[in-house]
Amino acid sequence: MPELHMKDYTVLEAFSRDECPLCHLLYQFKHSYYTSMFHESIADDDYIREMISSNGFCHDHAKEIIEYNRGLPTAFAYRYLFIKAQSTLKKDHSAFRKMKVSCVVCSAIETKKIHFIDILKRLMVNDADTLKIRLLASKGFCVPHLRELLVKFGKTPKWFTEFHEKRYAEIIEALDRYIDFENFSLGENRPDLSREEQLFWRDAVRFMTGFTRE
Ligand SMILES: [Zn+2]
Ligand SMILES: [Zn+2]
Repeated sequence: MPELHMKDYTVLEAFSRDECPLCHLLYQFKHSYYTSMFHESIADDDYIREMISSNGFCHDHAKEIIEYNRGLPTAFAYRYLFIKAQSTLKKDHSAFRKMKVSCVVCSAIETKKIHFIDILKRLMVNDADTLKIRLLASKGFCVPHLRELLVKFGKTPKWFTEFHEKRYAEIIEALDRYIDFENFSLGENRPDLSREEQLFWRDAVRFMTGFTRE
């Protein structure tokens, strides 16, 4: 059996979670990114330069920054961003109009995602049995991540796609059960669902869109 590295175990461990393994890893990464951003990065010259050249954060990440409620580091960051916006506006209207946001959080997540996909690809090539065991016991990948993995993997074994077809069939079935639960015209034939089953539609949204857990 090929030797596994520490980072392989981190990726494999994510398969035991109640969601898409890649979504889980990226969710964890995003929060560690925010923690170091608020604690150290915001005082680091290189990071500040990168953030200023990005012209701020995308809508979703700006919303999360507010929710983090870290006033002082956020005030420092946005002070820099407004200084740039102000001086650009003063110098050149056309340059101000062209200022685009290339969110630093988005690009850090994108880089990390490529890193995790590389690990998964290496496992698929060198140790497909381990990956298969973990995948078959997992919730599977969300739709966008499965799409990306299929592109990056190229040729994939049948079990990989068959598992996801089965997984999505289970999702459809759970949604059907919930739709019947809401259908009072079924009378006594209405299924009896637990609170968790009644809220399954939320998981369906997450599995179709990926990486949306707050
Ligand atoms: Zn995902
Ligand atoms: Zn972003």
